[in-house]
Amino acid sequence: MSEIFKNAQKQLEKAFKQIKLSNDVHEILSRPKEAIQVNIPVRMDNGKLKTFEGYRVRYNDSLGPTKGGIRFHPDVSLDEAKALSFWMTFKCAVAGLPFGGGKGGVIVNPKELTKHELEQLSRGYMAAVADVVGPDRDIPAPDVYTNAMIMGWMSDEYNKITRKIQPAVITGKPVSMGGSLGRDEATAKGSYYVIKELIAKKGLNPKELKVAIQGFGNAGFNLARMLYEDGFWIVALSDSKGGIYCNNCYLNPDLIMDSKKAKGMIDKEYYKGSVADTEDHSRITNEELLECECDILIPAALENQITKENAEKIKAKYIIEVANGPTTPEADEILEKKGILVVPDILANAGGVTVSYFEWVQNRQGYYWSLEEVRKKLKEKIVPAFNDIYKIMEEKKIDMRTAAYVRALKLIGDAIESKGTEETFR
Ligand code: NAD
Repeated sequence: MSEIFKNAQKQLEKAFKQIKLSNDVHEILSRPKEAIQVNIPVRMDNGKLKTFEGYRVRYNDSLGPTKGGIRFHPDVSLDEAKALSFWMTFKCAVAGLPFGGGKGGVIVNPKELTKHELEQLSRGYMAAVADVVGPDRDIPAPDVYTNAMIMGWMSDEYNKITRKIQPAVITGKPVSMGGSLGRDEATAKGSYYVIKELIAKKGLNPKELKVAIQGFGNAGFNLARMLYEDGFWIVALSDSKGGIYCNNCYLNPDLIMDSKKAKGMIDKEYYKGSVADTEDHSRITNEELLECECDILIPAALENQITKENAEKIKAKYIIEVANGPTTPEADEILEKKGILVVPDILANAGGVTVSYFEWVQNRQGYYWSLEEVRKKLKEKIVPAFNDIYKIMEEKKIDMRTAAYVRALKLIGDAIESKGTEETFR
């Protein structure tokens, strides 16, 4: 078992100690229900055939069809997909959605592909997993380096294979193909609602809070904008090529994005430039960003960023995990001892899958909601989830991550036990 999946499971072990559940629940949640590896041949623009390895994992479907993104990244692995599908299982339960957890990905650096090759790979992935996915079985969505256009290609491919128009097979599609309004901002919006609830509880003023954000993509950029507009003091931003820091100025995410865009795009899909190209501010590395002087640290890029090596050096008082799995279990222990409050990924970034659920509902009923309606419904899901988890944390005197797993485990455990347990059949 690799570290990442093993680490994900360690988080659940702490929650199992808090509530009494049948051994059956433990047994079922200890491994994925289904995991497939696929090889996708793509005819490259130079005429050569190149094969890309991909995965789709359905971790658990006790609460409903599995749901989770597709990642295109060179570091994708089966173990990573297992860990991510595990987190999706608990995230859907935390948000009170009728879904289980799934995840998938392809080992590829999409920035090295032309637009045509990217389309072929996206369609090829869907063709390879078409027997596993489906509106009532497993519903993918975007994740790192996949976007609405890629979801649109995949949706179109599924329709061709099944000879039916089935937009509910995938979420995060372009709005013109049945996507939901507000899906692009949803992950950030959910994180924003969580931060607002947290600072209200702590009696804090946004204008006095310094924020550092690692990752400037869909989640990180949109959240940076929302926080900036609300008066938060953004002092550090970064992307894969590095970051910037300014202790005494309010970084404006739109201006930073403009300078990132200035270098143009790779085939109109991925930016060539970086946050670190902005000349007006001091450069920092991604490692330095995590340790910088700030009140709120927001990892919004990849997993395993806060580890036992750097946790001791973190100066923030609050960590909002917008990325999935950014903190290792060893780091969690160090942060807890330091009194740093970590709002866990399965709550902090649940806004994305919540609006994906709304997209699936709208696709199935064939009736579409306004942006205001989507935002209102998202708030109605996220805010009570935050408050409930906060209450569990205080009542049981446990960390917020374990409290979130407790909330999720109660629901998933109930669903598993309702079919009978060891005790029923003994
Ligand atoms: P994205 O592809 O839009 O952006 C990723 C960002 O991370 C980019 O700015 C990229 O430059 C940066 N990045 C990549 N490697 C990095 C590195 N080594 N160090 C620092 N930055 C790096 O992806 P996204 O959708 O914003 O996803 C970011 C995180 O949020 C992931 O962990 C993802 O699983 C999680 N998440 C996303 C959604 C969603 O709806 N998009 C939902 C829930 C969770």
